[in-house]
Amino acid sequence: MPATKPPVKLRFECQSGCTACCDIEGFVYLSEEDLRKAAKFLNMSAVAFEKQYVYRTTNQIRLRKPRDRQCHFLKEGGCSIHPAKPTQCPLFPFWPEYVEDREEWVHLKKRCPGIGKGELIQIGTAMEVASEMKTAYPSFYEEWD
Ligand code: SF4
Ligand code: SF4
Repeated sequence: MPATKPPVKLRFECQSGCTACCDIEGFVYLSEEDLRKAAKFLNMSAVAFEKQYVYRTTNQIRLRKPRDRQCHFLKEGGCSIHPAKPTQCPLFPFWPEYVEDREEWVHLKKRCPGIGKGELIQIGTAMEVASEMKTAYPSFYEEWD
């Protein structure tokens, strides 16, 4: 992880009806628990869910991507697995790569209309949320600290 500085001021309020972050180029990663939860929500076995929706490597599990969008579960009304969405989804935009790097946070404003809105958020609070990402996806962040 490069030596970067966190944002000086952090303001964020998720915007009603927005799904922009579900369409940002990238992957949706899952913990083993995320996988089980999503499968259960869809009344599928974990094995069947994995076969249909998941791409697994030695260290990472992520959702397969459909050709025309970033996430299979993004539907017209929003996230179709909302109560069982993977850990990274509700934690956005408080991901380590954004809250630990003020330039990345500022750039993210172009993609997330909630940034810069709402009340000020203590950087310590944002860092605490970001640490949940590190716990859920240890292999992804193992060289981060
Ligand atoms: S892009 Fe930002 S404002 Fe829009 S849904 Fe995601 S977190 Fe909320
Ligand atoms: S799982 Fe749901 S919240 Fe997460 S990226 Fe896909 S549609 Fe968006």
